[in-house]
Amino acid sequence: MAKPGSNRRPSPATRIAQALRYIDEDTGAIIPPIQLTATYARDADYKNRKPYYYKRDGGPTTEQAEAVIADLEDAADSLLFSSGMSAASAVIEQLAAGAHVVIPRVMYHGVLMQFRRYEAKGRLRLSTYDAGNLDQMAAAVLRGDTALVWAETPNNPDWAVTDIAAAAKIAHDAGALLLTDCTATPPCATKALALGADISFHSATKYLNGHSDITAGVLSTNATNAMWEDFFEIRKLQGTVLQAFDAWLLLRGMRTLFLRYDRSTKSAVTLAHHLEGHPGIVSVLYPGLPSHPGHEVAKRQTGGQYGGMLSILVKGSEQTAIDVARFCEVFFPATSLGGVESLIEHRKTVSGEGFPVDPRLLRLSIGIEDVADLIADLEQALDRAK
Ligand SMILES: *Cc1c(COP(=O)(O)O)cnc(C)c1O
Repeated sequence: MAKPGSNRRPSPATRIAQALRYIDEDTGAIIPPIQLTATYARDADYKNRKPYYYKRDGGPTTEQAEAVIADLEDAADSLLFSSGMSAASAVIEQLAAGAHVVIPRVMYHGVLMQFRRYEAKGRLRLSTYDAGNLDQMAAAVLRGDTALVWAETPNNPDWAVTDIAAAAKIAHDAGALLLTDCTATPPCATKALALGADISFHSATKYLNGHSDITAGVLSTNATNAMWEDFFEIRKLQGTVLQAFDAWLLLRGMRTLFLRYDRSTKSAVTLAHHLEGHPGIVSVLYPGLPSHPGHEVAKRQTGGQYGGMLSILVKGSEQTAIDVARFCEVFFPATSLGGVESLIEHRKTVSGEGFPVDPRLLRLSIGIEDVADLIADLEQALDRAK
């Protein structure tokens, strides 16, 4: 007779809160240890005991964090890197010399800079499209020639939304792979692989960790092929694996991902509605607002969990926008996103000259504070700056 009640699979929120119900085999500890060793002793037959040799290959703490993310992504495998940029750079490094890549014209500035560096040295050919514009994406893709289409969604800094399933069709019809950067809507909201992406990239520095105390990046896939092996090799040879202590912090942070992300989303929706039509603001850019051009796709792709990232265009000059950022007393005037504390940044100052961004744009990352405090803070800053 089958045992009653033994085959119910817990939901993702439960699985991640328990880090996949981790129990240490030797001690019964329910929290994984931080395995700090740089090297591993062989057994009496001079064989490796585990698939670990040396710290650059990775180790058990990092693997536990990878298992949690792979579970969340419905992925066959995930690889953690020491930053989002080192994960993105491994993808770029893996491309064959002269490969053609299609990228958004405006996107996360570090990834764009890395692509442009490779292009300037003649190692890659790039074509661009306006983020969210599938017609432009389709026109930029070269049938049989394009190796990779990079889609950031929602996209920095105006949060344009790309329909992942439609983008996958465009890429696949041309024989290219689709990589998605959904850092602003982590896999508790958007399952990029299920929607058709071949590689799902996240800066785990952001929502996945959520506490602004490490950098980390992750790649996930369902195709553990030669390219995937190459990502592992690049990580090993460059020494860019996420180290054990940071992996442990990431594991700790991810346990509360669902709670944090839900709270940030709720507060961002409240704040966006409050600011829309405000006399000191030209426009509010947030996929959770019905006025945003990507609203319907975002609703479908996130299940209404739009996240805590929004931008505002301040009425006045560039200096007015900078003043709003520096007059805030609750928001931190800092770059990054996805942490428990709210941040405000003048995007043009942070991304530097030559990056196409409206000088009046302020990027807001909504944390988990009381939204009434966030609204009051912006109100007083807008009032002082005008
Ligand atoms: C932060 C970020 C990155 C880069 O990740 P790091 O962890 O800072 O190296 C890439 N893409 C997006 C959308 C990001 O927000």
